[in-house]
Amino acid sequence: MKKRILFIATGGTIASEVTSLGLKPGISAGGLLRAVPAISGLCDVDCLELYSLDSTDIGPEHWLGMAAAVRENYASYDGFVISHGTDTMAYSAAALSYLVQGSRKPVILTGAQKPIGFDTTDSRVNLLDSFICACAESMHGVMIVFNGRVILGTRAEKTHSKSFDAFSSINYPHIADLRDGRLMQYITPEFLAEPVFSRELNPRVSLMKLIPGSDAAQLEFLLSRSDALVIESFGVGGLPRGMHAAVHALARAGKLIVMTTQVQNEGSDLAVYGTGRPLSEDPLILEAYDMTTEAAVTKLMWLLPRAATQEEAARLFYTPVNRDILGTA
Ligand code: ASP
Repeated sequence: MKKRILFIATGGTIASEVTSLGLKPGISAGGLLRAVPAISGLCDVDCLELYSLDSTDIGPEHWLGMAAAVRENYASYDGFVISHGTDTMAYSAAALSYLVQGSRKPVILTGAQKPIGFDTTDSRVNLLDSFICACAESMHGVMIVFNGRVILGTRAEKTHSKSFDAFSSINYPHIADLRDGRLMQYITPEFLAEPVFSRELNPRVSLMKLIPGSDAAQLEFLLSRSDALVIESFGVGGLPRGMHAAVHALARAGKLIVMTTQVQNEGSDLAVYGTGRPLSEDPLILEAYDMTTEAAVTKLMWLLPRAATQEEAARLFYTPVNRDILGTA
């Protein structure tokens, strides 16, 4: 029997048209499907026009909207494909990994670097590959399908701004390849008997990327407007001397602070250098280790409404979800 897939459109380049003001989303979900006739031979598809946005304009309220679309239709479909702009797709995939946990049914995000109407485009192959994955019995949970690669929703980062090879899987292997419509899967994601849906996020999370000369006043400003802060420090991790006291004090004042690295591969290890060791020894300061920044930011948004204490926040942060964190040492 043919699988039933819900196609949720949110906009992005894949659905964009040329306008005098630059590329803008304008093509409907049905229009996208009509451009790839092979999909209707593969499965039965219903369309949901959720948003028509450049993903630069997508934020936490839209992640809740996407999660609600999956939740409200979960019983009626075998899988979900979400078309999405590439710019913030990695954030949306990470957020959905926390909002829709343990799903046996695949929830696939995809998009393209070139619009579906262009002569040269990655739109059609990415869409077809996504529906192939959405129909596969062995695919579970939230993932990105792009340029012939399947990446767990918590592990993706956009690593090329123009070429078709837009996404990489960071600190974890991609779980499958697709070549000419054939799925080669190496890793099977876990799932629960029933998915766990969350309906709340706290968007008061900030990100600070250190530069030489960053100071405590900048950090205090960000935390005056946020409940949690991810600090992308240098290398395996550390802070300039002048910022340590502020970080310890703000953690004691109830702010959640996560140290990570701005280096894309291999993660943080705060304990290595004198500039990081005192932070690693403070139980109120968290460390992202091998997590992506996208996962750390969205996990904080998800756990803030759930954690009554900083100890509970730490426990939730370090509990793996969709293989977002491998190790804490
Ligand atoms: N600016 C576009 C977006 O994120 C880029 C893309 O989709 O590739 O919506």
